[in-house]
Amino acid sequence: MHRAVFLDRDDTLIANRTLTDQPGCAPGDLCDPARVQLLPGVLDACARLARAEYLLIVVTNQGVVARGGGTIAQVEATHDRLCTLLTADATPLLHAVYYCPYHPAGSVAEYRREHPWRKPNPGMILAAAADHDIELASSWLIGDARRDAQAAIAAGIPADHCLLLAPHGRVEDLSSAAAHILAQSV
Ligand SMILES: [Mg+2]
Repeated sequence: MHRAVFLDRDDTLIANRTLTDQPGCAPGDLCDPARVQLLPGVLDACARLARAEYLLIVVTNQGVVARGGGTIAQVEATHDRLCTLLTADATPLLHAVYYCPYHPAGSVAEYRREHPWRKPNPGMILAAAADHDIELASSWLIGDARRDAQAAIAAGIPADHCLLLAPHGRVEDLSSAAAHILAQSV
């Protein structure tokens, strides 16, 4: 079995711009590949985790689709861009990207509902674990919101393996989170 580091997307890997000029977009929505910008230290932190044989898997709520602020195609193009930026020595660092387009208060009927994949529900992490043969007890989560940790704990990741970044958590940035994980990994 593999061990993984599950990564939130917005304000964990990439700077999150508020697109108030687009209908349906709320603070935190980003579904334009041209606006994808890695936070400082993210590329190096991901490279170090990948070298330690952690599978790096993004798990991100994208309720922007349900709110009509972006399409599935735009979200996936944004993730393609993220995967391109997170490449070291011509090797993609991200193993997979899971996203949840549903939101119970959405305006697009097709996506307007609660969903087991929507954090704080554990569905994305459970699906990834099944898809990629991941042992959750030895895996980690890095996020920036309480619901990221809630999803991870509900999936079976130990609570002390859930690292939340400032300002809502205690870890300074992704570099610090990676250093903590690597210091505890054998
Ligand atoms: Mg976030």
